Amino acid sequence: MTTYNIAIDGPAGAGKSTIARKAAARLGFIYVDTGAMYRAMALYFLRKGIDRDDEKTIAEACGSINISLHYKEGVQQVLLNGEDVSGLIRTEEVSQMTSAISVYAPVREKLLELQRELARTQDVIMDGRDIGTCVLPNAQTKIYLTASSHVRALRRFKELEEKGQRCNLEEIEHDIIERDYRDMHRDIAPLKQAEDAVLIDSSQMTIDQVIQAILEAVGDKNPEDGR
Ligand code: C5P
Repeated sequence: MTTYNIAIDGPAGAGKSTIARKAAARLGFIYVDTGAMYRAMALYFLRKGIDRDDEKTIAEACGSINISLHYKEGVQQVLLNGEDVSGLIRTEEVSQMTSAISVYAPVREKLLELQRELARTQDVIMDGRDIGTCVLPNAQTKIYLTASSHVRALRRFKELEEKGQRCNLEEIEHDIIERDYRDMHRDIAPLKQAEDAVLIDSSQMTIDQVIQAILEAVGDKNPEDGR
């Protein structure tokens, strides 16, 4: 059976996960958030007190990590050595550690096969940084979703404010720019738009408009015809 794969890549805070989750529900596809897998690995290293620059120890520790996904009422949960860590991986500390450790080959190799296996066995919308370029180069639809760093920071700021967390807009924008720079300039699987990806700049778009644009991109290559 050929599965239908949609790859969504883009910088931090572009709205990939919100959009991908909703589009997956509309299409009846599984949503795979690969960032959560990298975040779970980063959490492991943080808990062990491993320095982000200590490549050798990180490479060795990869052997002791098992990452898996399961779905609770359609929502992805990420398991780190059997523990559901989904609620622990969204902090700024974890975000920065994740982008620091995801430059290392053993970290990326650990997750690559799991990601490909998921896409081989089911229809997926998978989001990340290297999905269209590296993980699923044959995905039937590829989207590169971006927005200006200011808009992305503002969205994050509002999200944190709604949760009652104190935050500073300039600091958020600075952290986003720093993380994007690292993700775009690493040697292995850097963030970049795949040649055959549809570019969507969501700076001036609503969530529904972005979902519509994605569904149109998929409709151009009707999933039923793409099999
Ligand atoms: O998407 P999210 O913000 O959760 O990703 C966290 C970090 O994980 C990114 O900044 C990036 O460093 C890393 N990542 C990656 N490749 C992916 C997904 C995420 O390197 N496919």
